[in-house]
Amino acid sequence: MTDTSQSTAATADGPVVVAIDGPAGSGKSSVSKQAARRLSFGYLDTGAAYRALAWHALSHGVDTSDAVSVLEVAGDFDFAISLDPDDYWVRVGATDVTDAIREPRVSDAVSGVARVPAVREAVNAMFRALVATSGLDGVIVEGRDITTVVTPDAPVRILLTAAPEVRAARRSAEITTQDATAVADALHRRDAADAKVVDFLTAAPGVTVVDSTALNFEQTVDAVLDVVRAETGAHHER
Ligand code: C5P
Repeated sequence: MTDTSQSTAATADGPVVVAIDGPAGSGKSSVSKQAARRLSFGYLDTGAAYRALAWHALSHGVDTSDAVSVLEVAGDFDFAISLDPDDYWVRVGATDVTDAIREPRVSDAVSGVARVPAVREAVNAMFRALVATSGLDGVIVEGRDITTVVTPDAPVRILLTAAPEVRAARRSAEITTQDATAVADALHRRDAADAKVVDFLTAAPGVTVVDSTALNFEQTVDAVLDVVRAETGAHHER
């Protein structure tokens, strides 16, 4: 984060939180990152914490479908993440795992890790602390349960959706190492597993839906910024 001078100050309660939930392939990560740049806000990718824990578990040879083993390995999980949308990195201990956590083997294992309630409680506390101590005017926090569990009192709460076939097509454009059918299958499997843990397809009361099915990237960013403007009554963006 470099220039924060044009954004209005955070409240005495800490940074302005923009909570964005949605399924895989909704464009959530790239849209949140770009919206954060436009607002001079930070960006917190909560899925990266679950992915990094899955990576950590896999690197210890742990079966991620076994909750007890996951909890054990979570005990020595040394996680760090950048909130800077222009300098995004994820670390476990001294290892930079920014790219490794996107590998299909991690995507396939992550739902097992994310369904453990004690894991969710621990990472949620960490997310709140990361935001509170960021020193930033605002943070876009992106995930599956941000609008409902992590920051249900956030002044801006958005559910970013897109039709399943559009999400699968976007994801397969990102992952060029697998064929489109395999990518779509993996995405739908992960959605089904994740949906058992949190409902990220229905907007909770007070949450604004942004449907990106018919929107391109910039239009989706603009739609998100429109909601921020409407909900905060402030012109944060540059
Ligand atoms: O957003 P992303 O696809 O990187 O998230 C990876 C995984 O982390 C999801 O499939 C889900 O299992 C988990 N997750 C979660 N709650 C969040 C963010 C991600 O359970 N807030």
